This record gives sequence, C-alpha cells and structure tokens, in this order.
Amino acid sequence: MPLLVMKFGGTSVATLDRIRRAAKRVGREVANGYDVIVIVSAMSGKTNELVGWVNETSPFYDAREYDAVVSSGENVTAGLMALTLQEMDVNARSWQGWQVPLLTNSAHASARIESIPTDNLNARFASGMRVAVVAGFQGISPEGRITTLGRGGSDTTAVAFAAAFGAERCDIYTDVDGVYTTDPRISHKARKLDRIAFEEMLELASLGAKVLQTRSVELAMRYNVRLRVLSSFEDNGADAGTLVCPEEDIVESNVVSGIAYSRDEAKMTLISVADRPGIAAAIFGPLAEAGVNVDMIVQNISEEGRTDMTFSCPVDQVKHAEKALAGSRDRGDVNFADLVADTDVCKISVVGIGMRSHAGVAAKMFECLSSEGINIKVITTSEIKISVLIHRKYLELAVQALHDAFGLDKAA
Ligand code: ADP
Ligand code: ASP
Ligand code: MG
Repeated sequence: MPLLVMKFGGTSVATLDRIRRAAKRVGREVANGYDVIVIVSAMSGKTNELVGWVNETSPFYDAREYDAVVSSGENVTAGLMALTLQEMDVNARSWQGWQVPLLTNSAHASARIESIPTDNLNARFASGMRVAVVAGFQGISPEGRITTLGRGGSDTTAVAFAAAFGAERCDIYTDVDGVYTTDPRISHKARKLDRIAFEEMLELASLGAKVLQTRSVELAMRYNVRLRVLSSFEDNGADAGTLVCPEEDIVESNVVSGIAYSRDEAKMTLISVADRPGIAAAIFGPLAEAGVNVDMIVQNISEEGRTDMTFSCPVDQVKHAEKALAGSRDRGDVNFADLVADTDVCKISVVGIGMRSHAGVAAKMFECLSSEGINIKVITTSEIKISVLIHRKYLELAVQALHDAFGLDKAA
C-alpha cells in the first residue's frame, strides 16, 4: 500500500481535542488507501517545561539524563494519538524511538540519525496495522541510551522516516499554513510561498526560521523527499501549504525570497590578542570543545602585532564561552586584555538564490537599515544570504523594513 508520513507539531497536539482533530486527518488518509506513519511532538510547552526542570535540578547537567527527561513529552502524545485512532476503529499502534528502533549516534541533545531499520514496522503493516504512531525527536544510541535530536527535532524524525520507508510524501502539520517570506508573527505583511527551494529553506532554517529544523531540510534534499508544510487547523486542498522542492521546480522567484531572524544572540569580543599564526585555532578550538556554537567571526585590523577578535554565539552559551576562554588564558594558550560580551543582539538575514546572479542586495539591505537608524555591528555573507547583527530592540523594525524594501509582500 502507498505510504504517507504525517507529522504533527506541538500546537497541533496541544490538547485532547486537537489530537482528535489530527487523528481525523490521519483517518481520512487511511480511508484514501494509505498506510500512515504519524510522527508526533510533545504537547506545546511541554518540552520547554522539561528543559526548565533539568536546568533547575542540575545547571551543568549530564546530557544523557537531559535526554531521558526531555524525550518523555513525545511518549505521552504518541500513546494518546494511537488510542484516539483506535477509538475511531483505525488499526494503530504507538512506538517510541528505541522500539522502532531509530538508531542515532551518541551526541546527546543533538544526536544525528544513523539508520532506521524498516523490517519491524513493515511486518506490522503487512499484518494489518494501518497507522504507526512514532514519538518524534528521540532515538537510541549505540550504548543503548535514549537520545534526542535537538530542538525541533520531530521534523527530522518525520523526514527520516519518509526517506527510510519511501513515503509518497512527508506532510508537516503546524500552526501556520506554510512557509512565509518571514515569520508571520513578526510581519503581518508576510506572504505564504507556494514553493521554496531546498537551498533557501536550508538557509532560512539554519538562520532561525523555526518552521522546519535545519537537519530535516538537509535530509529531504539528500533523499529527495517530497516535503510539504501545512496547517493542522485549516482544511487543506491538494496543493495547500508550501512545497519544499528542488530549485529547478520553481519558475519565478524574487531575488530575495525570505528574511530570517535569530533573537537570542551574543557578540563577544576578545580585546588585544596577539596577531600570530595559530591564534584563531587556539581561541576557537577550546570553544568548540566546550560546545559553543560560534557563528560569525571577525578579526579586526592589527596594530603593533595585536588585534581584536569578535565572534557571535547563542546568548545562553555566553557563560560556557567565558569559562572556556578563561581556561585558555590560565593555561597561557591565549593572551587577551579583556573579554567583552554584548548580550543584547539579534541576527537578521536575507536569503535568496537570486543573489547568485544579482548584485546590489547587500547595498540595499544596509541602506534600508541605515534609513531606519539601525546600527550594524557585524556582517557576514555567503552565496545566497547576508546576515547582520544588530541591537535586539530593532528586531521587529528591521524585519518589517527589509520585508518592504525587498518587496516581499508581492509575488515575483
Ligand atoms: P511546531 O510546533 O508545529 O513544530 P514550530 O513552532 O516549531 O511549530 O514552527 C512554526 C512556527 O515557526 C510558526 O508559528 C512561526 O511563528 C515560525 N516561523 C518562523 N519563520 C517562519 C516562516 N518563514 N514561515 C512560517 N513560519 C515561520
Ligand atoms: N518537542 C521537541 C521540541 O520542542 C521536538 C519537536 O517538537 O520537534 O523541540
Ligand atoms: Mg517545530
């Protein structure tokens, strides 16, 4: 029988009533002749609550126990979804990650999927099961311990199942009806895109648009999964939502197709480090070992053999960064006069494959921000994106102004 993967995010399973509504959608696809793998998130807010409990109990926690705790929200919704389907006379069964099994590496809290053996579930489908409800976000390590795939990881679970089982489609049901030109919560002028290229979605996701986890887009691109984002609250026609697809399948698009933001960034500056070969390695090696996700890096002009080095990282990693750098200084590996942390910054990025062939996007972006009186602290670019760090209080203003400046409210 043809197979679909349907993923329901936190808001789509937030109450028993919403689980019932989601189950009805699943029931309709079963009636249409599909076997279905349903991937569920925890009820909205649940994972945050669990993370909070872990932090309160143990600030520098053991990541294995973090995973044991934060993976549990999905167990509840998986069981409830299976029960709801059974009440509708649909032959359904729930599976936790380890039962499938969804095999991952041992990188707790941000584990990568290694493989998903299909024999277990396929045998059950062959003997009459119509729906496998799988707890998203979780897997099992080679050591036999529970792992999680990083925040938003149920998207990745869904795409990985679609790839492993050769699903006809992977539908991501969420609280918006597709991928927009920017977060519709920030700009009411945001426009829903019918299609978006994998490369663009990958950039938007990694730059903060949390509608899909970055890794899920990577996997969909690699395994050519037909990936759709759509609303679990509205009735969807056959071409509803947004299709994430290869670039060739997009006829026309704006030069800039979307704007992403990341609210909680920090800018760290090491004042007066020696400008010598190996200094960057000496600074960033220990930061990586401490699990700090360094993003932008700028080295200033050197004067008399000394320079300032600036980098950005998520604001909740500032303490870890400070500790790692203090360690480097104590060991005599890196000498610096001061370490200045600016914890009031956010990152705004414009993304579009059209940038490959159009000049002037950066100039337009900078001009737009300057006309709003917004100071740019750091800039980075790549082939299809430009990112800036600015003061957090300008986040909404910057997103809205850039959305207007690039005419994103209108289709190409
Ligand atoms: P779920 O719980 O279903 O996984 P998420 O909260 O992870 O949902 O993702 C959906 C949210 O992503 C939306 O509510 C929206 O605020 C946010 N978002 C950010 N950028 C975009 C974008 N470009 N298009 C659509 N939604 C976006
Ligand atoms: N519940 C997990 C989280 O909130 C995974 C997910 O919903 O995708 O990050
Ligand atoms: Mg999500």
